[in-house]
Amino acid sequence: MKQGQLNIVTYPLLALRGIVVLPHMSAHFEVGRKKSISAIRAAMKDDQRIFLVTQRDIKTDDPGREDVYDIGTVAVIKQILNLPNDNVRILVEGLERASIETFYSGRNMTTVGLSILKEPSDELKYSETEAFIRETFGLFEQYASLIPRMSPDVLMNVMSIKSVGKLADYIAANIVLEAEDKQLILNAVDPVERIKTIITILYREIEILSLEGSIHKQVKDSIDKNQREYYLREQIKAIYNELGEGDNPQTEAENYAQKIKALKFKPEEEEMLLKEASKLSKMSSSSPESGVIRTYLDTVLELPWNKFTRDKINLEKVKTVLDKDHYGLEKVKERIIEYLAVMKLTNKPQGQILCLVGPPGIGKTSIATSIAKAINRKFVRMSLGGVRDEADIRGHRKTYIGSMPGRIIDAFKRAGSMNPLILFDEIDKMGNDFRGDPASAMLEVLDREQNNSFRDHYLEIPFDVSHALFITTANSLDTIPRPLLDRMEIIELTSYTDTQKLQIAVRHLITKQIKKHGLSKSDIDIDISAIERIITEYTRESGVRNLERAVEKICRKAAAAKLSGIKKSKISAINLEKYLGAPRIPIEKLAKSDEVGVANGLAWTSVGGEALKIEVAAVEGSGKIQLTGSLGDVMKESANAAITYIRSKSDILHVDKEFYKNRDIHIHVPEGAVPKDGPSAGITMATAIVSELTQTPIKRDVCMTGEITLRGNVLPIGGLNEKTSAAARLGFKTVILPEDNRADITEIDPEVRSKLDFIYVTNISQVLENALVPSADNNKGKILKPVKDSAVSEIISTDISSINRPVIKQ
Ligand code: ADP
Repeated sequence: MKQGQLNIVTYPLLALRGIVVLPHMSAHFEVGRKKSISAIRAAMKDDQRIFLVTQRDIKTDDPGREDVYDIGTVAVIKQILNLPNDNVRILVEGLERASIETFYSGRNMTTVGLSILKEPSDELKYSETEAFIRETFGLFEQYASLIPRMSPDVLMNVMSIKSVGKLADYIAANIVLEAEDKQLILNAVDPVERIKTIITILYREIEILSLEGSIHKQVKDSIDKNQREYYLREQIKAIYNELGEGDNPQTEAENYAQKIKALKFKPEEEEMLLKEASKLSKMSSSSPESGVIRTYLDTVLELPWNKFTRDKINLEKVKTVLDKDHYGLEKVKERIIEYLAVMKLTNKPQGQILCLVGPPGIGKTSIATSIAKAINRKFVRMSLGGVRDEADIRGHRKTYIGSMPGRIIDAFKRAGSMNPLILFDEIDKMGNDFRGDPASAMLEVLDREQNNSFRDHYLEIPFDVSHALFITTANSLDTIPRPLLDRMEIIELTSYTDTQKLQIAVRHLITKQIKKHGLSKSDIDIDISAIERIITEYTRESGVRNLERAVEKICRKAAAAKLSGIKKSKISAINLEKYLGAPRIPIEKLAKSDEVGVANGLAWTSVGGEALKIEVAAVEGSGKIQLTGSLGDVMKESANAAITYIRSKSDILHVDKEFYKNRDIHIHVPEGAVPKDGPSAGITMATAIVSELTQTPIKRDVCMTGEITLRGNVLPIGGLNEKTSAAARLGFKTVILPEDNRADITEIDPEVRSKLDFIYVTNISQVLENALVPSADNNKGKILKPVKDSAVSEIISTDISSINRPVIKQ
């Protein structure tokens, strides 16, 4: 060391790369640069002191004045170790801060003139010093807790330092810091400045360390969790294997997941299903909850996702199949062919849903089966009769124990394809109560706009039902909700005449049943006369269902006979009773003679047309009107309308003007147990009343149907086909019909038309003219005779107890 003027001392310079040595701190490091080694040697020759200063940039090889910081540390070299690679390793101890005043960079070494920066004494009050020290100590403790291996010595030393400047130096030297930070501490000659700097640094470091810690923890946790789960799962597998129970929840869940992925659902649907599957892995396989999930997943996986059958729409072939399976029904077949033609051209069922409407047993179901067969689609029948609950259609949420998907999804499951033909049977019998409206759910199914994402409560994920071909059936249109009706195209199937029934039996039913019973044509011979008798005496129906059942019964008996050795069973009208028992239906015959007060109406019922006899008795009394025979409101109103009309026309009709005061009129419609309603019995009631009041008989072979107004006008009615075929069947000769129904008569079967005379009327007077028996005096205002009491008691007996029989509509 050389002492110059102005307290400048000269020392050899050792430039440090990336480290800062602070006063009172020891450090050891390796030195390699020539100038540095020369500086060390020079120092060793002198008083072993050397000036250590840090380079601003570690890459600089031969730093000039600007390349090193201004302040460094004068240090004493404590030890030198010559290394084999010509480097030396030295141990130094920092003594005090010094700032560079002169800088001389020689060839061998750099020498600097320094002014020593004496450590000022702490000029702080005790309390201030204490505050800084405590703050720093608190932070240091916090810092120490965040780094893994802080030596307890360091902690002890920190606690024992009572000077703020030394404390800052000591901490800076003992914690991991960038050289820049340490240099900041070195630069801070003022102890207060220094302690503030270290406090800031500690704050920052603590923040970084705790952030680092939490990131590290998160990463570590997730790795740990995965490893833990993996380990536990493997253990479970091993336990199940040991127990010999191959199917453990884990593999089961994995199997489900695999199957789910294979079905290529939409991402959000797949995610939801996979979540369900993963729940399984965490449950005991015998818990009820896992049973629920398993059933759910099985149900979902069993559905025919993406499975389609290939349509084979060859219109010629379809026609052949329909003709082969069904007699007649030309219009229906034609419309179906048209529908399929459009479907073939557009590749998807289009337009409105077909709705086959008609009485039972008329072939609605079987024609739908034939369509499915003809175009190679799977067929599923789903009955909507009695469905009252929306959940029946849409299913229950799977949170309910024992919940299931609704009938729609079930139908697809049964079909096993996304494009079956689904027959919704009896859509008119669907109910509606507090549990929700099944019709609204059906609307969604049948609506081509929205049925590509039908939602079932159980399934939760949408199901595309738009590829299915829907056909609905109904017995009548009255009870179908309007919005549903709007989505359907109605195809009406009308009752069969006896001749048609005979044809159907001969061509289809008998052959079908013979085959079904394992017989051949040589085993059985059913004579036409037998079939005719079945039609008239054993079955009274619009369709052929009971006829088919009767044939079935005969075939059953023939099968038994065959096994008991009888070669051929021959059935004719004569021995029919042996097979079917006594006829169940009394042969309805026309009355033997023309009667007073008894008029023949015609009614439409869900099983076809019926005769509707109306009896009227007028007895002495006080003008009461009594109606019996389970009549509905509309019929009662018709009766009142008829009476008012008769009162207003008493002159012309030659009835006693005062009859409404001194007569009680009793109107009765036999078969009292059967509820009846509808307006079309109006003219029949009026005719019966006039006949009774005038004591004029009604022609026994005339029947009628039509609504009456107060003015006596006759309004049109429905169900003409059924009503007229009943008239023909029962042997009537003349049918009186409203004029407005004249056009409809062309729709009626020619055979029926040929058997009947039709009289079209606009007014009740024309009805009376044609229905009442003309006689010499019956137009001359005959005085009403009292009716015998016995007649009244006979017609009053009614029974309203059983009302489940079909409603008769007039
Ligand atoms: P619906 O569905 O109208 O109540 P079904 O379709 O069940 O009636 O018909 C009852 C039985 O009558 C079936 O065996 C069917 O094949 C037969 N059937 C009905 N109409 C005809 C017909 N026109 N030709 C041949 N068989 C028929």
